[in-house]
Amino acid sequence: MNTEIGTSVDSSIVTVPELDKDHKYHVFISYSSGDSIWVLGLIHKLEKTFPSMKICFHERDFVPGKTIIDNMVECIQSSQKTVMVLSPDFVHSRWCLFEANLSLLQDCIVHKDIVPIMLKPCTLPLHLSHLTYLETDDEQFFDKLSQVLLSNNDPMARSLIHYQSSLLYSGKTLLTLTAVNEESESWQPGVFSSSPVPDSLRAVVDNPQTYKQAIEIINEVKPPKSCLRYTACVVLICALCLVLAPFCITFTVAACFTQVEYKNAGLGSLIFLPIAITAILAPIIFIKTVCWNKQEAKRIRQKMKMKTCQANLLLYDSSLLVGCTSKSQLFFVYIKLFDCMRTFQTAFGYDNVLTKNMWEKAISIYSSDYAVCLAKKHFPFTTTEPPGHLKDGICFCQYINTQLAES
Ligand SMILES: [Zn+2]
Repeated sequence: MNTEIGTSVDSSIVTVPELDKDHKYHVFISYSSGDSIWVLGLIHKLEKTFPSMKICFHERDFVPGKTIIDNMVECIQSSQKTVMVLSPDFVHSRWCLFEANLSLLQDCIVHKDIVPIMLKPCTLPLHLSHLTYLETDDEQFFDKLSQVLLSNNDPMARSLIHYQSSLLYSGKTLLTLTAVNEESESWQPGVFSSSPVPDSLRAVVDNPQTYKQAIEIINEVKPPKSCLRYTACVVLICALCLVLAPFCITFTVAACFTQVEYKNAGLGSLIFLPIAITAILAPIIFIKTVCWNKQEAKRIRQKMKMKTCQANLLLYDSSLLVGCTSKSQLFFVYIKLFDCMRTFQTAFGYDNVLTKNMWEKAISIYSSDYAVCLAKKHFPFTTTEPPGHLKDGICFCQYINTQLAES
C-alpha cells in the first residue's frame, strides 16, 4: 500500500464545481476506522489543494446520537459523490452496513456516483466487483481521484452499483460474536463485550442501550462456586478415593467373612458399617469429581441458552435474534417475525394478554436454538408443512410446531 498521496494537480487551473441546492458536500468519504490515518491524510491533502471543496466524513460530520446508518444515509444524500475506501476492514464492517440496509440506501445511492479506492487488497463484495477502482499505489492516483471528484455528477451514465434488495433478507446471519474469554476453562461462562454495538448490527439495532442490556443478560451467568474449580482439590479427592476405596472394600469383605464364620452378624456388623458406606461412596465421589468439569460445562451452556432466549425478548423488536450453542459464541440473525406473530394472534386472539404471554414464552424457550439453526443453515428436521413465513427456510412458527410435535 502506498502511504504517500502524491499530487501534481495545479489547483489554480481547476475549479471546484458549485454545489446545487440539494447538496451540502462535494464528496462523502466512507471508510473503516482502521484506515483513518490514511484517509485523514487524503482529506487534508484534498482540502489543501481544493480549499473550496466540501468534504464529509464521519469523524467530523456524523451527528452524535444517531445510528451510523442514519448518519450515512444523510451524508450520502447531501453529498454529490461517495468515495469508498476499500480494505479488508471496510469489507467486514462498513460493507455489512450497506448490505444490511440496502432498501434504505438503495434510493439515495443509486442516483449517486460511487468512487471506490483500493487501499489494501481485499476481496470485493459482489456488488463492487465489477467496478473500476482507483489504486493508491498508482503514481497518478491523486490526479485521477481529483479528476473524478471535480467532474460533473453524471449518475445515470455511471450507475456503478446495482443494488439487489435480496442482500438483506430475513434469515441472514449478521454477526458471529466470540467471547472475550474464549480460551478459558469449559465451566467458565463466556463473557461478551456489550459496547460498542458491532458495526454489522448497527443498521438494525436502533438503540445501543438495548444491545447492551441484551448482552448483559447473557453475561449474568456466573461460574460455579465449587472447590472442584481448583485442580489441586480434584487431585486430592481422587487420590483419597483411590486409596480409601480398595482399603475399605477389602476390610468390609474380610469383616463379612469373619462375621459369617462366627455367625454373629448382629451387633458386630455396626463396626464395619461406616467402612462399607465409604467403600460404596468413594467410587461414586471419584466418578463425580472426574466428571465435574463436563457436567458444569453442560450446565453453563444450558444457562447461557436460557439467558440468550431472555435477551431475545429485548432484541426481536429490532428483527434480531441471538443464539448460542457453545459458551463462547453467539450468532446474531436478522429475522422478521411479524408474520409469525400474526399466526399467534390468529390462534390466541388479538390484543390480549394470553397472546402476548404465549409469544414471549415461545421466544424464551425456542428463539436461541432457532437462531442457531438459521445461522448454521441447518434444521434438525425437514418440514412437510406448507410454506411458512420465511422465504427458502423454516419460519419461527413452523419451528415451534415441529418442536412441539416431537416433544
Ligand atoms: Zn411463521
